[in-house]
Amino acid sequence: MKDPMTSYRGRIAPTPSGYLHLGHAQTFAIAQKRAKAQGGRLILRVEDLDEARCKAEFTQGLYEDLHWAGLTWNEGPDVGGLYGPYIQSQRRAFYLKAWEVLKNKGAIYACTHSRKDVENATQAPHEEDEAEPVFPRRLRAVEGAGQERSVPAGVNWRFRVPDGEKIFVLDERLGPIIYVAGEDFGDFLVWRRDDVPAYELAVVVDDAEMAITEVVRGEDLLKSTARQLLLYRALGLAVPAFCHVPLVKDSSGRRLAKRDNAMSLRGLREKGISREQVRGLLSDA
Ligand code: GLU
Repeated sequence: MKDPMTSYRGRIAPTPSGYLHLGHAQTFAIAQKRAKAQGGRLILRVEDLDEARCKAEFTQGLYEDLHWAGLTWNEGPDVGGLYGPYIQSQRRAFYLKAWEVLKNKGAIYACTHSRKDVENATQAPHEEDEAEPVFPRRLRAVEGAGQERSVPAGVNWRFRVPDGEKIFVLDERLGPIIYVAGEDFGDFLVWRRDDVPAYELAVVVDDAEMAITEVVRGEDLLKSTARQLLLYRALGLAVPAFCHVPLVKDSSGRRLAKRDNAMSLRGLREKGISREQVRGLLSDA
């Protein structure tokens, strides 16, 4: 028998802030195919940390939709003989430990500036699809800011990026992609003042703790991968391979969003479209 810790381990990681759409199905189908081709394992991780955006109804919906679309996983906590998902909201202790390590090293700092301050300082446009503004260097706190705090709540925590350093994302499909820290992205959030671990931190902690060997996700997260590489390094964790896959666009060329119910898996199912037809719509990447 293969040692599961040394063979391929992938994951699918939906956020239950809406129903799954064709874009998710495409990413997950590719993740499933790659895991299968390697005789590896696939994990389901529900990324439900943002309580304001995530709803139990969507978590329930995603199990149904994954099942319907034939997107299965084969590892997870044992739930009555079935594979359960990992649920991020139940894994706070892991994130907290990482926060502490980063804080004690001085890799992150307490940032008292609000989102509004950042927007004002960068004069960022407010359009929805606009990329996050680069956090301005002049709003960066001094070395050691917040190190006396024993809990993260109450203030935003940001990772101090190494300005000017080239970060190489080695993508399995796209080859090497270079980002420059401090130019393409600035000091990024690792923990929010409302006491929610930020996506970048939670995903790195989980991918490392679950011994994921390859991360398959949408191309929209390429720059996030560059940020995450800095977190892997600061936390001394092994880096997985990355495979960023194309996003599904609608007929006007816009990427699908959770509000596009017509393209949700359940919307398609209700229209009488079969699982095979749905899978036929997906690219293989
Ligand atoms: N939960 C993220 C999302 O739904 C995906 C994160 C990832 O794959 O790293 O967009």
